Amino acid sequence: MSDNIQGKVAVITGASSGCGEATARLLAERGASVVLGARRLERIEALAAELTEAGFQAKAVQTDVADRAQVQNLVDVAVETFGRVDAMLNIAGLMPLAPLEDLKFDEWEQMIDVNLKGTLYGIGAALPHMKAQKSGHIFNVSSVYGHKLGPDASVYCATKFGVRALSEGLRQEVKPYNIRTTVLSPGAVATELLDHISDQTIREQTQDFVSQIAIPPESFARMVGFAMSEPDDVDVNEILFRPTAQPI
Ligand code: NDP
Repeated sequence: MSDNIQGKVAVITGASSGCGEATARLLAERGASVVLGARRLERIEALAAELTEAGFQAKAVQTDVADRAQVQNLVDVAVETFGRVDAMLNIAGLMPLAPLEDLKFDEWEQMIDVNLKGTLYGIGAALPHMKAQKSGHIFNVSSVYGHKLGPDASVYCATKFGVRALSEGLRQEVKPYNIRTTVLSPGAVATELLDHISDQTIREQTQDFVSQIAIPPESFARMVGFAMSEPDDVDVNEILFRPTAQPI
């Protein structure tokens, strides 16, 4: 029996590390052609080479998701190379936690540009193809922080609450086109996400907490695999998951 991943074309942003990288590996190993987007070209080229050498289909496209034209190019290259786009996975994101009173305007803008606008650009680039195909699956990434507020996380939470809102709106709107939508809301996953917190005290405190409980990014990838491998008439819309040890 086909698991509904074999033969699909999946575009993955944030594929250079953490959840996106683990998802690329899982989908490639299960027979999808994966198109990898991130800014760190050497990382995604190395991953694409590794997957290709292992007999899988992969292509790397340097992409800054804050730039609409680059996201469009990512999807265009996927369609030119593999003929279609079956899954758009908007995984790129960042979480530079800080209290609002620190006025880290650049970080506010980065989070809005990458987490929210980058996700929208991914939707916008893939949607016309999926409408024409009358099939597709769009994955967006929220967070436990898309369900509740946490310390020093006002802007991050605003972007992740926003991702849930636009994912639900998308779900309602794309019914006529046979497109599925899944929003994933992870708890603590062991990735590079915390490395970019510029406030040293907050970074170290968060790393201390997260390192005790975090689950590996392969857990995230399995959630993607589950949602995608369901039959086409099953639309897994939301997945909220945490480490079993995560109390909040
Ligand atoms: P990582 O920091 O390991 O990965 C983040 C990815 O996003 C990298 O591949 C990075 O690539 C990419 N990225 C960041 N900025 C841009 C940009 N401007 N353009 C393109 N790509 C960009 O963290 P995670 O894997 O944990 O993060 C994946 C998603 O999961 C994020 O949306 C995050 O908010 C979410 N999440 C993570 C949780 C966790 O505990 N880890 C919990 C809840 C949600 P590059 O730098 O090469 O561009």
